[in-house]
Amino acid sequence: MKNLTCKHCGGEVKAGDIACPNCGIPLPPDYGKYPQRNFILWFIALVVLCAFMIFWLPPDWSNKLLGR
Ligand SMILES: [Zn+2]
Repeated sequence: MKNLTCKHCGGEVKAGDIACPNCGIPLPPDYGKYPQRNFILWFIALVVLCAFMIFWLPPDWSNKLLGR
């Protein structure tokens, strides 16, 4: 895990700290955690769900489009 630095003083802070130990400035509650990783996991789950819907559901709509 990479070291995090305070954006105010440049000192080292730990993930989960509520304030910088060097200058005392409050840090955002999710500083050092990566919410975008969660977003990517949800996006992949959505793509897999869409693929499941396309390949496993009865393709009634495609029969109509093809004129059968
Ligand atoms: Zn600081």
